[in-house]
Amino acid sequence: MATLSTLAPAPRPLSAPARRLRPTLWRLCAVTLIWATSLFVLALWVSGAGIQSLLAFDGDTLTTLGRLTGLVSANLLLYQVLLMARVPVFEHGFGRDGVTRLHRLVGFWSFWLLMAHLVLITAGYAVTSHTDVLVQAWDFVWDYPGMLLATAGTALLILVVVTSIRRARRRLRYESWHLLHLYGYLGVGLAIPHMLWTGADFTASAGATMYWWGLWAVTAACVLWFRVAVPLIRSARHGLRVVAVSRDGQDGVSVRVAGRDVHRLRARAGQFFIWRFLDGPGWTRGHPFSLAADPSGSELVISARRVGDGTDRLAELRPGTRVMVEGPYGHMTGERRSGSRLLMLGAGAGVAPLVALLESEPYAPGEAILVTRDHSAGHGLRRAEIDRLVLARGVVHYTLHGRRAASGTSWVPATHAQWDGARLLQRIAGDLSAYDVYLCGPIPWMQSIRRDLRRAGVDASRIHSEAFAV
Ligand SMILES: Cc1cc2nc3c(=O)[nH]c(=O)nc-3n(C[C@H](O)[C@H](O)[C@H](O)COP(=O)(O)OP(=O)(O)OC[C@H]3O[C@@H](n4cnc5c(N)ncnc54)[C@H](O)[C@@H]3O)c2cc1C
Repeated sequence: MATLSTLAPAPRPLSAPARRLRPTLWRLCAVTLIWATSLFVLALWVSGAGIQSLLAFDGDTLTTLGRLTGLVSANLLLYQVLLMARVPVFEHGFGRDGVTRLHRLVGFWSFWLLMAHLVLITAGYAVTSHTDVLVQAWDFVWDYPGMLLATAGTALLILVVVTSIRRARRRLRYESWHLLHLYGYLGVGLAIPHMLWTGADFTASAGATMYWWGLWAVTAACVLWFRVAVPLIRSARHGLRVVAVSRDGQDGVSVRVAGRDVHRLRARAGQFFIWRFLDGPGWTRGHPFSLAADPSGSELVISARRVGDGTDRLAELRPGTRVMVEGPYGHMTGERRSGSRLLMLGAGAGVAPLVALLESEPYAPGEAILVTRDHSAGHGLRRAEIDRLVLARGVVHYTLHGRRAASGTSWVPATHAQWDGARLLQRIAGDLSAYDVYLCGPIPWMQSIRRDLRRAGVDASRIHSEAFAV
C-alpha cells in the first residue's frame, strides 16, 4: 500500500518553456513534412504542363484536373496510412486525438478527390477522343495497365468509407468495423501501382517514379516497424506480466503489470498503451487503456470499466499472464502545463489518467482540483487512490453524480441543472486563468465542458484532453 511519502513526487521545475517547446517542435516537424510532400506533388503537376493544360479549355482541362486530384488524393492516402503507423513525429506532434481527427479529415478528402479523379479523367479522355464516357470508362478498366487492380482497390476504399459513416459504424461491432477498416490497406496497395504504370507525371520522369516508390516503401516500413516490430521487441525486452487483478468500484477492474526496467518504457502519466494479454484465444485483439497510476515506479497500472468482452476478460486475468504493449501514446501529459494550478475533470473511466497525473505532477496543497462525474458514488473508479491524494497531496475533490439533465447538451448533471456550466466552473475553481485544465471522458461531454471553459475565458492552449474513443 502506498504511504504518504511514496505518493509525493520529486519536485520538478514548473512552467519551464522547454516543456511546452517540445510538443510545438514535434508539431512543426509533422506539419512541415505534410506540406513538403503535398507541395512536391503540386510541383510534379505544374512541371508536367498542368497549368497550360488547365487553360486549354478543352478535354485536356478535364484530364489535367483529373491528374491533379489523383495526385493529391494519392498523397493523402499515403498520409492515411502513415498517420495510423504510430510514427513518433505524428504521435508527438498531434497527439492521438489529433491524429484520429486528422485521419478522419484526410480520409474524407482523399476519398472525394479520388471520386473527382475518376470522373474528371474519364470525362477528359472521352472529350479528347470523342468517345462515350461509359465506353471510355470500360476501356480504362480493361485496356490500361494496373487499372483492374485500381478498380478493385477503389471498391475496397468505398467499402471502408461507407462503413465508417457514423450511422453505419454504430450498427457494427467495433471488431467487425476494425477488420473492414484494415481492408483499406489492401485498397491503397491495389490502387497505387496504376499511377506509376499509366500516370503521365510518372511515365515521363524516372525521378518522380523513384520518389513515389521511395515514399511508399518508407510508409510500408513505418507500418511494419512501429506497429509490429517495436511492440514485439519492447514486450520481449521488458517481459511484462500481470501481477495482480482487483475490483475497482462497482463495475470496474484494476490490473497491475510488472516487468524488467519498466521505467525504460518512458511512459508518462496521462498516456496510454494498447494492451494485449496473452491469456488464450482472442489475445490478438488490442485494447487501449490509460495508465491509472504514476508509471515512474516498477509497475504499470490500468483501471477499466467493464463494458464488453475485452474489459470483462481483464477481470479473469491470472497473475503471471504475459502482456504485450504498443505505446506509450498520447500527449495529455504534464509537459503541456504552463500554469501552476490543475483543474481535472473526468467522467467514468476517464478519471484513470487524471489520477495518474495527480500522482506524478508537482503542485502545492489546494492547487489541484479533481471533479469526477459518475452514475453514482459506487460506480467511481480509483476512489481509494483519490482519497489518498486528498489526504496526502491536498487535492480538492468534487463529485457530480446522477442522471444527465433532461434537456440540452450540458456536462452538468440534472442535480445541478439550474447552474450555467461556465458559472459552475468558476465557482469550483475561482480564477480559472491560473489553471491548466485536463479533460477525459466521452466526446460530447468533453465538448460541452470545453465550450463552457472557453466561455469562462480559459485559453484553448490551457485545455488538454484525451478521448476514450477512436
Ligand atoms: C486512448 C484511449 C484510452 C482508453 N483508456 C481507458 C481506460 O483507462 N479505462 C477504460 O475503462 N477504458 C478506456 N478506454 C476505452 C476502452 O478501450 C474500451 O472501453 C474497451 O476497448 C472496450 O472493449 P470491450 O471489448 O470491453 O467492449 P466492446 O463492447 O467491444 O466495445 C465497447 C466500445 O469500446 C470501444 N472499443 C472497443 N474496442 C476498442 C479498441 N480496441 N480500441 C478503441 N476502442 C475500442 C468501441 O467504441 C466500442 O463501441 C480507452 C480508449 C481509448 C481510445
